[in-house]
This record gives sequence, structure tokens and C-alpha cells, in this order.
Amino acid sequence: TETPPPMRARAEIDLGALRANVLALRARAPRAQLMAVVKADAYGHGMVPCAAAARQAGAEWLGTATPEEALALRAAGIGGRILCWLWTPGGPWRQAVEADVDVSVSGLWALAEVREAAAAAGLTARIQLKADTGLGRNGCQPADWPELVGAALEAERDGLVKVTGLWSHYACADEPGHPSIAAQTARFEEALEYAEKAGIRPEVRHIANSPAVLTLPDTQYDLVRPGVAMYGISPVPQLGSAADFGLRPVMTLSARLALVKHVPKGHGVSYGHHYITPADTTLGLVPLGYADGVPRHASGKGPVLVAGKWRRVAGRVAMDQFVVDLAGDTPGAGAEAVLFGPGDRGEPTAEDWAVAADTIAYEIVTRIGARVPRVYV
Ligand code: PLP
Repeated sequence: TETPPPMRARAEIDLGALRANVLALRARAPRAQLMAVVKADAYGHGMVPCAAAARQAGAEWLGTATPEEALALRAAGIGGRILCWLWTPGGPWRQAVEADVDVSVSGLWALAEVREAAAAAGLTARIQLKADTGLGRNGCQPADWPELVGAALEAERDGLVKVTGLWSHYACADEPGHPSIAAQTARFEEALEYAEKAGIRPEVRHIANSPAVLTLPDTQYDLVRPGVAMYGISPVPQLGSAADFGLRPVMTLSARLALVKHVPKGHGVSYGHHYITPADTTLGLVPLGYADGVPRHASGKGPVLVAGKWRRVAGRVAMDQFVVDLAGDTPGAGAEAVLFGPGDRGEPTAEDWAVAADTIAYEIVTRIGARVPRVYV
């Protein structure tokens, strides 16, 4: 068999690391079930392979934002429990109910649509009522909670739905000690108490995302919902790195230099000439750009490991390529350039890129584009 041609660039996905991260998170929440959050193509890592790996590691639940994501998991043959939470009117409720997906309901319009879908399908829909305990995003406001709970109980009596969960989401779990955390937990308790006194019997009550799993052990309830930590990224870099939390980064993004050349001192580099070579030097061309998710905001700053040393993006990141100053080194075209990975081969991490681009590592990995092949190892 022929060896495949070397790739321009690749995002290597270490599914063993992902499984180990699931086990490490589970060890922090031993009495809770675990929902592996695989929305947004598993934060850029590839939804179906990551979902399958999380299942292998024992994740009872998978979490997606859109119903299309949940249905894509089913179409790929992924069984077990799935919750999806980002619905808009007219969404594929019936397909979700028929595919045995638990659906989140934040308001009366959604309850009406899921009732109708269940009646049409001749099935009982599994729904989870979401409370807005202070995030101010999706979820039912406290003032509207009694009405939503009442409508859900009525739909249960009609045999159209079963309320399987009561849940919410934190605004500031990544800032330990933020007063909103205790306030949201208190409102969550009130929402649970109201619903349970009214007669709702949920299988699972849950509010904890990655930062809560790592730093707020009292918020685990019956289930935890880690996303970013499962991909080996610290949600609280100010408190500790992934390694500090026993997590291993799953994605390594690398490319092969498309060109290495000598240029004289004073040479402008890339659009706008924001970098001028300070001396006679060598430049390396990295064939990845903002179309691949390399943030243009990291122009002049993003770190890349080439030939054993960190280099910085020289000048602007362009759509398909950027340049690094190799300071006279001549690794040759085809040499490996590692943008980020676990960090233990001396390469930068996604967190280093987040700092360079003034964003969070969630955004760095999630935006790696479809043009970059994912290679599963
Ligand atoms: N739960 C919900 C509702 C979410 O929207 C997300 C992602 O933002 C998560 C859990 C996972 O969050 P994190 O990646 O911080 O663990």
C-alpha cells in the first residue's frame, strides 16, 4: 500500500486523552452521572468520534445545543441518552421525539410544540425544564416557572410528556467566589423545590459545567455537564492549567512549512507590512490562516513551535497562510510547525493562543475550520 501524501495541516485528536479526561472528571463527581457536551462539532474536535469515545469512557449522557446535532448523533448510530437544548419555533420536535432524544423546554411555546409532536408521533416525549436562575440567556424566569411547571404536569397527565430533568446553567462558574454563583444556586434550589412539591419527579437535576465540576463540588446534583474540560482545556486558566487539574489537551494543530526563504533586513512581511525584518533572516510560510480558524487577532503574537523553538506570527495572519520569522534557521520546506498541543513536546497550548488573540481557549479550538482534516489517534 502507498503511504498517503503528507498533509498540509492536521488537527490530531487524541481520543485516549479524551477518554482519560472523562474518567478524571467522573472521579471528581463520583455520585453524579456525566453528560459529555459535544455541541459545535465537539468544540471543533469532531462530534461523532468524540461522542463515541465519551460513551466508551462511561458518559451516560451526550449534550448538544441544536436538535440537528442530536439527530446527527443518532444518524451515526450513537445510542443512549442525549439532551439538546437550543430550540426555535418550528424545530424538528417530532424527529427528536422519534429519535428518543430528551429535549429542553424553557417556555410555554416550546411545551406546546413538543406536546403536538408527541401526539402526532403517538409517543411520550422526554423533556427537561430549564430554569433561568440568573444567566439571563435561555431558561424560564422565576416568575414564569409555576406556569411552566403546571403546563408540564398537565402534559404529563395527558401522557404526552415525561419530565426527566430540571436544570439550569451558571453565568460565572469560572470566577470562584463571584456572588452570582451562590445566588444562582439558591434560585435553582427554589425552582427544584417548587417543581418537586408540585409533583414533578425528575431523573436528573443538573447545573454544573466544567468550571463548576472542577471548583464547585457542591453543585453536582445528579449529573454534571462538562464540555471544555473533557477536551483537556482548563476553564479557569487563572487557577490552574489543564495538567494542574489532571486533564490532557486532546487537539494538536500542526502544519508543514510551505516555504522557507532568506530575506534581507528591512523586508516587510504580510498585508500591511506590520512586521519588518529586523535583520537578514529566514522566513517560514505556515499554510494555515483565518479561514482555518487561526485568529487574525493573534497577528504578530501567536506562538508556533518550529525546529525546536517558539516563533511568533510575523505580521498579519492572512486567509490561508501566515509567516514566522525563523531568525536564520533553515528547517526546510515540509518541516513541522506546531501551533498548539498538550505542551509536553515544548509546543504552545490552545491557552497560549487564547492569550495571544485576547480570547478564551474554547474559541481557539472550536473555530478550527473544516478545511483542516481531523486525524484520530
Ligand atoms: N451546559 C450548557 C447548557 C452549555 O451551553 C455548555 C457550554 O457552553 C456546557 C454545559 C458546557 O460548558 P463548559 O464547556 O464550560 O463545560
